[in-house]
Amino acid sequence: MIELHLRGTDVETAYVCEIIFSHWQQWKLSIHTTDQNHLSIGIVGKPAEKLVFGSVSALETSEIVALITKIFTPNAVSRLRADCQERIIDVHGVTNWLDKGALAVIFWLLSGQSESTCSVRDNHGRVSAAHMLLVEHKVLDLPIVDLLAEYLIDRIRSLQPDLPIPSNNYQIIPTHDVDAPFKYAFCKPFNFLRSVVTDAISGVSLRELAQAPTKWLKVRSGNIDLDPFNCFSEILDINESYGLQSEFYFIAGHSGGRIDGDYDIENPIMFSLLKEVVDRGHLIGLHSSYNAPFDATILNSERERLQKLAIEAKYFTPIDIVRNHYLRFDPRITPNVLSTCGFRQDSTLAFAEMVGFRRGTCRSFPLWDLENKQPLSIIERPLIAMECSLVSRRYENLSYVDAANRLDKLKAECRRFGGKMVVLWHNNYLRSAKDFELYEHAIR
Ligand SMILES: [Zn+2]
Repeated sequence: MIELHLRGTDVETAYVCEIIFSHWQQWKLSIHTTDQNHLSIGIVGKPAEKLVFGSVSALETSEIVALITKIFTPNAVSRLRADCQERIIDVHGVTNWLDKGALAVIFWLLSGQSESTCSVRDNHGRVSAAHMLLVEHKVLDLPIVDLLAEYLIDRIRSLQPDLPIPSNNYQIIPTHDVDAPFKYAFCKPFNFLRSVVTDAISGVSLRELAQAPTKWLKVRSGNIDLDPFNCFSEILDINESYGLQSEFYFIAGHSGGRIDGDYDIENPIMFSLLKEVVDRGHLIGLHSSYNAPFDATILNSERERLQKLAIEAKYFTPIDIVRNHYLRFDPRITPNVLSTCGFRQDSTLAFAEMVGFRRGTCRSFPLWDLENKQPLSIIERPLIAMECSLVSRRYENLSYVDAANRLDKLKAECRRFGGKMVVLWHNNYLRSAKDFELYEHAIR
């Protein structure tokens, strides 16, 4: 058992310690309050040996930025990984800095403070990844929080080498946001014409364009299997062939209007789809509509609507997992809204523009309520990679080979730290054999 001494009012430091030492490391903690500003850590029964670390408040934001800039250069990181503390002294002579600042950096990232002050937003109100420090320094694909936690753990282990090592719970988790389940099933004539124009502009072949009207008519008259976006059974087949349970996130409201898709979850076609997912033993979550992550009343009504349908489909698990449409997430508001509505887990936190570790970790952690300065019961299980972040022209625009390599790198980090490689693949992004190949690469 390890013994922590910290100020009773230092809820931020206690939050970080609970995550690293209790949630992740599964060590038993004995927490004592003192009137000192730092955190001291010792081993129960060995009062003479203690380590002293700076508390979360030990660094100003500018110092946190300086620390990240100084330590997390690609060169330094490869040495940081090398094992043991000399590596850090060796890198920059910054051991004292790390002892002083590791907890502050971890809190800054996990709590969302790093994002809350960003005033640059895109047209969906999302913080701009390009203005985030981890992106500016090209270290979004390094789990910085996990690296710093490993440093702290190594330091504590130097006091007691036989502290338990938790089992590695690395897992690949395929998830699917149901934004556009069908291309034509709910598509009215005007929208069909618009889709033809969009397809023509985006370079769809003449042959496919010529076949579109017939296909649209057939799908609209009930032949749903012909719908170009309908590949749910194939997705389930693939996931099952790798022994993976998938999560499907359904939209159950239209707070943003058209942007929330063209389906009504109560439509019999949607119910059949939901039932197929349930019958095959996969999980259902809520894909909260565009404005729901900022309004508990809207979000709750969507959750209740989906729950009711899920029960009709004989899915008796509570709808307590959520991901927000367009990955919209305001760290000052959303954690509280999700928690108020009783969600157990959110899996929204990634940047749409780029894959990687938005909060610096591949592991789950309780979200922090910035306004009321307290941890929430809802767990964030960060999203690591979305297909369009990798290959879309407006985002990273990688070739399929480069995308596969990037996925391998992320998987290796998740494996190393026993995290979850959460991938998001939309059914409408699985059109060609190459698309399916990349998807399989992501989940194997
Ligand atoms: Zn979505």
